[in-house]
Amino acid sequence: MAVQKYSRQREAIKEFLIGRTDHPTADMVYLGLLSKFPNLSLGTVYRNLTLLSDKGEILRLRLGDGVDHFDGNVMPHLHFICQGCGRVMDLEIDGLEGLTSLADSHFSGKITGHVTYFYGKCPDCTKGEMS
Ligand code: ZN
Ligand code: MN
Repeated sequence: MAVQKYSRQREAIKEFLIGRTDHPTADMVYLGLLSKFPNLSLGTVYRNLTLLSDKGEILRLRLGDGVDHFDGNVMPHLHFICQGCGRVMDLEIDGLEGLTSLADSHFSGKITGHVTYFYGKCPDCTKGEMS
């Protein structure tokens, strides 16, 4: 049954994202699941990724490279995108938790959130430059 098949694929897409920290694109999710679901289409993957992120079960990241990245970790955390190789990494930085309320206290309207990402060169991409 079609509905059952789609939810099985959706579950597989979610499982694929959970426990990895490389923030894959829809293409990478599609290629990663193709052996398990030979009839899978990129459109189905994209539709399910959209549905899962709308429901808050995964995160959709827009990091300025023109491609959506997806994250199975929905806890609040920050991201870095490498301008050399394009990889997306998690960042652990203390002290930025209060950024929304800080902005709100300087604004006469109501600020309820913010979108922040960092960019530069990852450790691998800076290696060649240091020598
Ligand atoms: Zn890099
Ligand atoms: Mn992440």
